[in-house]
Amino acid sequence: MTDIPKTMRAAVLYGEGDLRLVDDYPVPQPGPGEVLIRVAACAICGTDPKILAHGWPNHPPYGQFIFGHEYAGTVVAVGDGVTEFAPGDRVAVEPHKGCGVCANCRDGYYTTCLNYGRPEKGHRHYGFSTNGGYAEYACNHVNSVYKLPDGMPFEVATLITTAATSLYGIRRIGGLEAGETVVVSGPGPIGLMAVVMARLLGAGMVILTGTRPDRLAVGLRLGADVTIHAREENVVQRVMELTGGIGADAVIECAGTVQAAVDAVEMAKKNGRVALVGIYQEPAPLNINKVVQWNITVAGSKAEGERSMAQALALLARGAVDLSPLVTHTFPLSQIHAAFETAEKRLGGAIKVVVKP
Ligand SMILES: [Zn+2]
Ligand SMILES: [Zn+2]
Repeated sequence: MTDIPKTMRAAVLYGEGDLRLVDDYPVPQPGPGEVLIRVAACAICGTDPKILAHGWPNHPPYGQFIFGHEYAGTVVAVGDGVTEFAPGDRVAVEPHKGCGVCANCRDGYYTTCLNYGRPEKGHRHYGFSTNGGYAEYACNHVNSVYKLPDGMPFEVATLITTAATSLYGIRRIGGLEAGETVVVSGPGPIGLMAVVMARLLGAGMVILTGTRPDRLAVGLRLGADVTIHAREENVVQRVMELTGGIGADAVIECAGTVQAAVDAVEMAKKNGRVALVGIYQEPAPLNINKVVQWNITVAGSKAEGERSMAQALALLARGAVDLSPLVTHTFPLSQIHAAFETAEKRLGGAIKVVVKP
C-alpha cells in the first residue's frame, strides 16, 4: 500500500446544495471483506441531483458525505479475508450491499434489505447511506464489486448499474422469451438500457415510447425497432396496432409518470407482464380488474438486485452493442458543479454525464 496517499481529492456534501471540492479528505481504509478502489469514473444518476439538494435518509454527516454510486475503477488494496479480488483488478461497483442476515438478503433480495440504513448490521448503500464515488478512492465490500471484461472502458463500465437496474425489471417479470414483443416506456438512461437488454435477451419487436425525439432516435441506434412519440400518438392504440390487437408480452415502464404506469397495464396482452421500474411521485390508478381478468403480472423492481450486475456484465461483455451514445459528456472531478448542471439541465443533449477523479 506504499503508493496510496493518506489524503485524496473528493467532492464532499456540506449541506443541502453545498457541494465542495476538498483536497485533504482521508483515504478510506479497507476493512475485512472490503477492497479499496481507485475511482476512474463515476456517472451522475438521476437520483444524484436530489441527494445534492436534500441529502438522503441516514446519509453520513454533512462535511463527510461523499455521494456518487455509479463508479468503476481499479482495486489498489484489499482488506482482511479478501480472496476474490487483487490489486490491479478493473471493477465496477453496485450501490446496494445488503446486511446478509435478514430474510430478504438471505433470499437474494438485498435491494430490499430489512436492515436498510443500519451499517452496524452490515448494510451499505454506497453513495447514499455510505460514502461513494465522487472521490479519488472508495471502499466497497466484495459483495458489491464486479470484475470488468477486458477492453471495457471505465466510462462505459459506469453504465453497468443502469443496465442492471433495467435487467432487474426484466428479471422481476420472469425474464423474456426469445421473440417476445417488449414495450419500453421512457427513454431515460434506464429505459434506453432496457432496450439494449431486451435486444440482447432475444426480444422480438422492441417498441420504445417517449416524448423526446432525440432520445427516441438514440433508442433506435441502441436496438429499438419502433418508436412512438407519446404526445403525438395514442401510445396504447399504437401498441395494439403493432401487435395485431393483442398487446405486448412485456412492458418495462421506466418513465415514472402516472400516465405511463396506467398505459403500461393497458398495453399488456392477456397473460402479459408489466415491470414498474420508474420512480413515481404520486399513486397511479391502474386498471386492477384488467390485471385480474387478463392474468397480468405487475412487478415492482427495486434497483439492481439478485446480482443483476453480473448478468448485465455478461450480456454486455462481448461488446455486441455500442453503448458509447449513452455517455455524452465527461468532466474532471474539479468541474463537478458544471457536470451536475449539464446532467440536470440536459445541456447539449446530455444523457449520461461522467465525472473522472
Ligand atoms: Zn443510480
Ligand atoms: Zn438484509
